[in-house]
Amino acid sequence: MPKKLSQADQQMYDRIFQQNRDWADGKTKHDRMFFKEHFKDQDPQFLYIGCSDSRVSIGDLTGMDIGEIFVHRNIANVVSLEDENIMAVLQYGVEILKIKHIVVSGHHGCGGIEAANSGKHFGRMDSWLDKIREVRFKNKEVLDSIRDHSLQNDMLAEMNVIAQCEKLLEVDFIRDSYFEKGYPMVHAWVYDMRTGLLHDMEFDMDGCLEKLK
Ligand SMILES: [Zn+2]
Repeated sequence: MPKKLSQADQQMYDRIFQQNRDWADGKTKHDRMFFKEHFKDQDPQFLYIGCSDSRVSIGDLTGMDIGEIFVHRNIANVVSLEDENIMAVLQYGVEILKIKHIVVSGHHGCGGIEAANSGKHFGRMDSWLDKIREVRFKNKEVLDSIRDHSLQNDMLAEMNVIAQCEKLLEVDFIRDSYFEKGYPMVHAWVYDMRTGLLHDMEFDMDGCLEKLK
């Protein structure tokens, strides 16, 4: 016998399904073929690599519709070349979907960044956080010169985005496709939760590739 949900949980559970029905109705109200058309295929131009944080939902904050952004999310938007999950997403995105733009987007107020910058340990999360601690270690001098801890975390979030973009350029099929076809282009964004605005950090992809040569 499945455990009974509390009244509050049941209400939230029901709200999810009700809102889903409302959303689906809204989509087909003016376009009866909306889901049938989307079911056939997807042709997103963007691959978004963002943080799992519940406050950073890329579709909502950009107004992009279903089918427009291919998405991968993990704690603190890390590109780990040893992670089969992200590597599969990248390869599918680049080789099959022929994505034109890969965006790594971090955000201010990121709990993953804060944890990696805290000097504390977090059990099974530590091996993941080590990937951000590496970025912290490389930029130790600059980060330690910032007294305000919250500003320091935000700076690390920005440095982390750039570091993860650089990692993308180490991936052979991304480099091969870019040199051959001119895409995917790699972009670094930061989302400011205080204002709701995205900022383009203008990642210098060509300059970075030059350095890797
Ligand atoms: Zn985050």
